[in-house]
Parts: sequence; structure tokens; C-alpha cells
Amino acid sequence: MNLLEKENLARTKAEELENASPEDIIRYAVETFPNITFACSFGAEDVVLVDMLQKVSPSTDVFYLDTDFHFKETYETRDLMKEKYNMDFVRVSPKITPEEQAAQHGEELWKSDPNACCNIRKVEPLTRILSKYDAWITGIRRDQAPTRANAKKVEYDTKFGLMKFNPIAHWTSEDVWDYIRANNVVYNPLHDQNYPSIGCEHCTRQVMPGEDPRAGRWSGNDKTECGLHK
Ligand code: SF4
Repeated sequence: MNLLEKENLARTKAEELENASPEDIIRYAVETFPNITFACSFGAEDVVLVDMLQKVSPSTDVFYLDTDFHFKETYETRDLMKEKYNMDFVRVSPKITPEEQAAQHGEELWKSDPNACCNIRKVEPLTRILSKYDAWITGIRRDQAPTRANAKKVEYDTKFGLMKFNPIAHWTSEDVWDYIRANNVVYNPLHDQNYPSIGCEHCTRQVMPGEDPRAGRWSGNDKTECGLHK
């Protein structure tokens, strides 16, 4: 299938599946693309999708990008989920350690050049892992950020060259938390401490009442995305 055909297939399927349930979209995705993976950040949306995947297709690979800079609560959430679902997460690491990064690029690259830091610790590892798959599933939602407002349930991801499924693209934050409560899903306790969006410890702060939920990411910088999503 050439690029145009893949884009057309994604467009057609996105229209067909726009009103399908997240579970049905996951079912379609894993049946049509058995060589598929889910990218888990252990945020609220992603723990929901892990729970759904465990019910629909428990053998699907789930990976996380270990930047080496996650909060300890994020690693604890990973461990609790491993125990609860008796599953494992594929750990994807950057090519260089934090010490090597400091030696090569200077201390606190996340302050001097956060795009370079994200490229080393997130984008390159993501590109490497996704090259092994035909499709990936993500937990992005349209109302998280203007950059995500046009996310389709099915897209052809031209950046990484594979099919992309966003089964909860239409959900609100309330939908996510309703699912978490109804299904007793393990979640990152930082969400209860005014961290609606959780990334690396260096680049995430609590948000104040009335602030945008993603205001705590790269605060003080005009950066809004890691470079993982278009
Ligand atoms: S979020 Fe911050 S610390 Fe993490 S990779 Fe990006 S710039 Fe580096």
C-alpha cells in the first residue's frame, strides 16, 4: 500500500469509527494490525487505555519512554499496574544516560534547549520503537490542547510512518475520571495534587486554580508538546 492509499484508508476508517466506542476501536485496531503497540505515559488517559487493552487484547505490547527523569510516583504507578494486571511494560531508553547528556550538551539541557532534550530522551527513542510496528495506539484527547483539536480516531502518522489510533480522542477529562472511578483503575497519585498532566519531573509543575490543565508542562517556555504528536 502506498502513502496515499494508507492515508485514504485512515480517513475512511476515521469516518466509520468516529462514533464507535473506544473498546470497539481498539478491537478493530488489534485485529487489523496485529503488529500494534500502545504508548503509555502512565497519565490518566493512558492508564484507562491499559485497562481497556487488558480487557480487549491483553497480549498487545505496551511500551513507555523512560526518560530517566520521571517522578518517583510515575514509576510506582507502573509497578502497581504491573502487579494488578500481571503484565510487563517494554522500557524504551534514550541512547545516552543523563550523565552523558550533561557531558555532551551541558548541565540542565531541559532548561537551555528543551527541544533538544526531548529529541534525545523522547523523540529518538519513540522513532526507534515505532519503526518495529505497523500501528500504534495513543491516549490523546482533542480538548487537551489546540495542537490536538483535530485528532482523528484513525490517522496515518506521516511523522513516524505507521497507522495511529486515538480511541478516546473525543473524551473529556471528566469521561476519563468517570472511567477510572467506575473501573477502579490504578492512577498516578500526583493527579490528586494538582498535576493534571504529568511528564518529566524537570518540566512539570502543579497548576493553579483556573490555569489551563497543561500549563504545568514546560512552564515559562513556549513549548507545548514533546514532539511525539503532530
Ligand atoms: S520533558 Fe523536559 S526533561 Fe523530559 S525530555 Fe523533554 S525537555 Fe527533557
